[in-house]
Amino acid sequence: MKNSIIGYPRIGELRELKFWTEDYFKGNLSLEKLQQNVKDLRKNQWKLLEQAGIDFIPSNDFSFYDGMLDMAALLNVIPDNYKFLGLNKLDTYFAMARGYQGEKGDVKALPMKKWFNTNYHYIVPIVEDNTEIKLNSEELFNQYTEALEIGIKTKPVIIGGFTFLKLAHYNGTKKIDDFIEDIVKAYGDIFIELNKLGVEWVQIDEPILVMDLSENDIEIFKRIYTGLLKNKGKLNILIQTYFGDIRDCYGEVTSLGFDGIGLDFVEGKKSLELIKDMGFPEDTFLFAGIINGKNIWKNSYEKSFIILNELSRHVKKENIVINTSCSLLHVPYTLKNEEKLSEDYKSHFAFAEEKLVELAELKELFGDTNYIASNKYKNNISLFTKKLNSYNSEVKKKVENLTEKDFIRLPKFDERAKIQKDFFKLPLLPTTTIGSFPQTSEVKSTRAKFKRGEITKEQYVKKLKEKIKECIELQEKIGLDVLVHGEFERNDMVEYFGENFNGFLFTQRAWVQSYGTRCVKPPIIWGDVSRAKPITVEYSKYAQSLTSKPVKGMLTGPVTILNWSFPREDISLNEMAFQIALAIKEEILDLEANGINIIQVDEAALKEKLPLRKSSWHSEYLDWAIPAFRLVHSSSKATTQIHTHMCYSEFEEIVKDIDFMDADVISFEASRSNLSIVEALNKNNFITAVGPGVYDIHSPRVPGVEEIVKGINSMLEKINKEKLWINPDCGLKTRGEKETVPSLKNLVEATKKVRNKLGEYV
Ligand code: GLN
Ligand code: ZN
Repeated sequence: MKNSIIGYPRIGELRELKFWTEDYFKGNLSLEKLQQNVKDLRKNQWKLLEQAGIDFIPSNDFSFYDGMLDMAALLNVIPDNYKFLGLNKLDTYFAMARGYQGEKGDVKALPMKKWFNTNYHYIVPIVEDNTEIKLNSEELFNQYTEALEIGIKTKPVIIGGFTFLKLAHYNGTKKIDDFIEDIVKAYGDIFIELNKLGVEWVQIDEPILVMDLSENDIEIFKRIYTGLLKNKGKLNILIQTYFGDIRDCYGEVTSLGFDGIGLDFVEGKKSLELIKDMGFPEDTFLFAGIINGKNIWKNSYEKSFIILNELSRHVKKENIVINTSCSLLHVPYTLKNEEKLSEDYKSHFAFAEEKLVELAELKELFGDTNYIASNKYKNNISLFTKKLNSYNSEVKKKVENLTEKDFIRLPKFDERAKIQKDFFKLPLLPTTTIGSFPQTSEVKSTRAKFKRGEITKEQYVKKLKEKIKECIELQEKIGLDVLVHGEFERNDMVEYFGENFNGFLFTQRAWVQSYGTRCVKPPIIWGDVSRAKPITVEYSKYAQSLTSKPVKGMLTGPVTILNWSFPREDISLNEMAFQIALAIKEEILDLEANGINIIQVDEAALKEKLPLRKSSWHSEYLDWAIPAFRLVHSSSKATTQIHTHMCYSEFEEIVKDIDFMDADVISFEASRSNLSIVEALNKNNFITAVGPGVYDIHSPRVPGVEEIVKGINSMLEKINKEKLWINPDCGLKTRGEKETVPSLKNLVEATKKVRNKLGEYV
């Protein structure tokens, strides 16, 4: 019996890599020292994996920034403007990742996108007409040798040519088809080098195979691999898939002659069925992904053995390799640094390091015909039969008792819009912001002091109120129409709410890489969720008391809270979303009762967990995610205006579902995109009033008045002026006051200009 992992986290147990690279960026760490540090980091990880008894230890799963970017560097997919900077290899790589501004030039970063259905982001390779795809880096081979030097024979990991070409963007006239031969040649060259080094197994990741594939896609896939497999030499090729099943191409994948096939049995709903129905090739190894690489709960051995036993009927037992469902990159490093979580809680969790123990145990048990009698098995079973303190029958009952009318807000949108128009008497094209104002170092240090217990709650609240007062005064001075309190009390839009909910657990060091050196620390949903006490009411009420203009209450929506947490595995996502929705609903009703008439419920992460296959969009997700949002505001008064916000504009395909959230106003990112979404809204007769961002807050640039006027005017061509709001792209918390104030002033001035102009026509 053997076991394997697809990849290990790489940011460092205490985020060492983050701090080293950031120091390097600042010029505080030399290139040599950086390289030495990462070598040590890799070495320690390989040793850890060896000691944990992992048979297939990956190499090249390390990355300074992102694996797709590594592949772009390896395959020479480096756009000219980065090459022309004339930087060294690593700095060219970092220039692609984060842009470069210095004496050698000024180039923007490559685009970044979410990696399938995770919160990890990859750098999008840009292929130009003159791009010459060819082997261009030694990194892959060096890392293999590095591990060999300490006596560890690894399985090099690369992203496959098909996924790479599918996720790349083509800037010129050439498209995927024009690069297939080059890809086959370049991977062939990689194989030659790996053969020279005596590598036994190479893992080629092709996660794109779990998506909906067209016939043409499958043809391309076949072309790439029939070409490649001919030249594999002595190498064993493992084609690794994850994040779903490969129902569209299972026949092709199993007949091409791979030495190993990696399938996901956690998210791959049909993986088992495919094997049962279509069989599995005789002499091929099945890398069976049964340990969840995305969630932090212990594996249920009982459930795993149901899969393993079934698999053994169709695949030779000695050919089954116990594997993770995806790279462990998506879970935190280790439980051992969690000093505050009680052992009782911890006994239910497995982060990356603890998953290694599970892999070792499962391997051992799988080789034991009488595994049921073993203590390891029994201990695991008892964990899942233990009664947990996570149940709250009152919450359960509330969810069970929900009926259709709990999801319907009355009066309907048009009627509400009329009532709200009279009630608020806002000017045409109302101006507002998305919620947060710049979080100065003073704000951050006050919060840190409070968390460390260095200042009292009273002192902290007093400080926050001072900031709120300043923020309201500033907005009045700028002349915005709908104000916000500034969100100085929170650093995170999920943790802050989770802390005030029953049912959530928090970690100290359970970081997960989000992109580059950025990490997130998602809370864990442990039990049934309910609101412990009012959360934002005091601050919103105070802010509203300072002005006669409306101040927006500011909440995070249920789907976003769920998507940015580690969910439970014992109840459905749907049930969790409804529980959170009911908790947020209580907050809305409290805000309303305290005189807050506009309330924004952010759903920044709604799109993130949209299933990878279109056929599941509704049945597995939107059919409960959209109702969860509707539930939040269905009891609100007609005079309460509900806003929502989304951090992206790519929702053309789900425009109707977004409209069905039945918010009164939605704001979203648009200033960078080509406004195609505005077109889509128009085509779909979008009902909700909209505020497509007119100012890009992801950059320190101050947009000029005329530029904003132009933006507004082009929106007015497609959007009814009665329905258009003017606002920035997203919250301002990461921005400095220096650029924020003039930008907002310009936004208000531009709006006034357009209003005047419109006045002439009316
Ligand atoms: N209201 C939040 C803010 O302004 C929204 C943040 C987000 O969409 N990510 O910061
Ligand atoms: Zn946003």
